[in-house]
Amino acid sequence: MQFRDLQKQYEVLKPQIDAAVQKVCARANYISGQEVRQLEQQLADYVGVKHCITCANGTDALTLALMAWGIGPGDAVLVPDFTFFASGETVAYEGATPLFVDVDEGTFNLDPDKLEQKILEVKAQGRYTLRAVVAVDLFGLPADYPRIEAICKKHGLLLLEDGAQGFGGTVNGRRVGSFGDIATTSFFPAKPLGCYGDGGAIFTNNDEWADLIRSYAVHGKGAMKYDNVRLGVNSRLDTLQAAILLVKLEAFRNSELDAVEQVSRWYDQALAGCGFALPHRPEGFTSSWAQYTLRLPAGTDRDALQAKLKEQGIPTMVYYPKPMHLQKAFAGTDSARADCPVTERLCETVLSLPMHPYLTRDAVEQIAGKLR
Ligand SMILES: *Cc1c(COP(=O)(O)O)cnc(C)c1O
Repeated sequence: MQFRDLQKQYEVLKPQIDAAVQKVCARANYISGQEVRQLEQQLADYVGVKHCITCANGTDALTLALMAWGIGPGDAVLVPDFTFFASGETVAYEGATPLFVDVDEGTFNLDPDKLEQKILEVKAQGRYTLRAVVAVDLFGLPADYPRIEAICKKHGLLLLEDGAQGFGGTVNGRRVGSFGDIATTSFFPAKPLGCYGDGGAIFTNNDEWADLIRSYAVHGKGAMKYDNVRLGVNSRLDTLQAAILLVKLEAFRNSELDAVEQVSRWYDQALAGCGFALPHRPEGFTSSWAQYTLRLPAGTDRDALQAKLKEQGIPTMVYYPKPMHLQKAFAGTDSARADCPVTERLCETVLSLPMHPYLTRDAVEQIAGKLR
């Protein structure tokens, strides 16, 4: 059994993917080929925003958004403490200071009350110019955007949606990628919509930021490629990856998103009443189920449980074992100062189970049976 079965997915989509790859190879237009523009158009339409700019990975997508906003030394950005490193790393790499905010125990996402508390605290201290909030759609569930957008607006802060894990999720019918002022996603193979390597995208309705990001992503280009009006980076999505993503986006919309929802329901049924805290389903929210993550009862020997399951051929993962503010990379900085007891508890008790669109009901029953 695999944690996320990408081989099975390829088996199912093989004829279309092979044809798409061959077409690109025959044309040999490997960089910025027509599939890239086609994909950007389809992604923008699906998400419901004006601009989609693809780039080399989800980390660059965050970086390019921060560059467009000119976030740098002296600025602070609020980031959830329970997330993948890149959500805060990119802020620090731009020279700004990520300050970490605790999450909600049930949704694993930014706690709006603690966010507002932290905003007031940072503003009162006056050490930094507070510029933006990064909200993460952890494990596929969108953050609480109705509240977070209102809080950011009230306090004059930019909102960056890190939708690396959330692509396909919705809040009251609105799709991930459309929240905040700029949203980003990742096409890393194991994400809800993954390519066959690294890839990422940026979404926004703002024309000016979209133009800036297109420039920053290609060496700060001006009117043409050899007219360089600012310092940028080289961050593009390969034509081959775009061609593969066009096939995978169709499968994602037609069946895969429904399939993971079904798998999550099977898990819910099979694990109900066993003492595990199962993923929350807030009213009006849908998840793209990047992970199915439960919380173990306090005091469970998680290492032993994982070892036992592994012996039975069941792979599990711990996302994430360490709060952001305790990462060594932030030691001795203001980023290390955070009051995040919920995140600390989650890091001790979470466990993610195999999850992908091709997981069968039998497999889910087997996993749940062993867990019970
Ligand atoms: C995967 C991930 C990223 C980074 O994406 P890459 O494509 O791997 O660079 C950023 N934020 C979150 C929350 C992620 O899960």
